[in-house]
Amino acid sequence: MAYCQRMGATFVSDTDVTSLAATADGVRVGWSLSSGSPDPDRHVETARFDGVVICAGIASRKLAAMLGDRVNVYPVKGYSITVELNDEANQQAAPWVSLLDDKAKIVTSRLGVNRFRVAGTAEFNGANRDIRADRVQPLVDWTRKQFPGIDTSRVIPWSGLRPMMPDMMPRVGAGRKPGVFYNTGHGHLGWTLSAATAQIVADQVSLGMAA
Ligand SMILES: Cc1cc2nc3c(=O)[nH]c(=O)nc-3n(C[C@H](O)[C@H](O)[C@H](O)COP(=O)(O)OP(=O)(O)OC[C@H]3O[C@@H](n4cnc5c(N)ncnc54)[C@H](O)[C@@H]3O)c2cc1C
Repeated sequence: MAYCQRMGATFVSDTDVTSLAATADGVRVGWSLSSGSPDPDRHVETARFDGVVICAGIASRKLAAMLGDRVNVYPVKGYSITVELNDEANQQAAPWVSLLDDKAKIVTSRLGVNRFRVAGTAEFNGANRDIRADRVQPLVDWTRKQFPGIDTSRVIPWSGLRPMMPDMMPRVGAGRKPGVFYNTGHGHLGWTLSAATAQIVADQVSLGMAA
């Protein structure tokens, strides 16, 4: 953050981009305080930018449409449980190496000494973020079966929406209008791919804005 400030960049957080319009000299962006704030309309602001990179998860589709692009991102809901490993017996029972059970479509990560995360599921349910017990239970059952030494009586369930493209490939690169770029639609591999696609899009932005 301090480096970006030295380079003249400004961060604006807790805001929703509400409008995007390509103009002759860039892109006009409108934003307001995020919808959680008491009166977002009071704080609507707009500014012109030389370029924008759309990386808004499942909302990328809506924002792309404002710029005349079709980005066919659809939410694919996944679930995880984080198992608290509260004593040494539990900590010994949990694996340190990350696992992928290809048949069950379940992955695991050890998050330090005290936590073990188990994730999976692909649910098509629009932008619904409800955490369904019948989706969480298979993750608990799998953990019990594979690691009977782990106490699963206390788990923290979570759900998230993967921004998925139909061909499972991210949309990375320029849009139709000058100054418009995309880095979105990474689906179930956003963390894995993010550094590489950020580099690719940064190179394209440098080239595109220099042209
Ligand atoms: C259960 C589960 C397990 C996963 N496991 C893995 C894994 O092991 N490895 C891996 O690589 N990936 C994994 N993923 C996938 C990964 O989490 C996603 O691919 C990644 O989070 C996508 O990042 P993103 O920044 O593109 O989108 P998001 O994380 O959805 O972020 C989009 C951001 O845009 C913001 N936004 C949206 N609309 C607006 C607007 N109008 N104005 C301003 N901001 C806006 C949102 O608030 C949000 O902050 C998993 C996903 C799930 C659900």
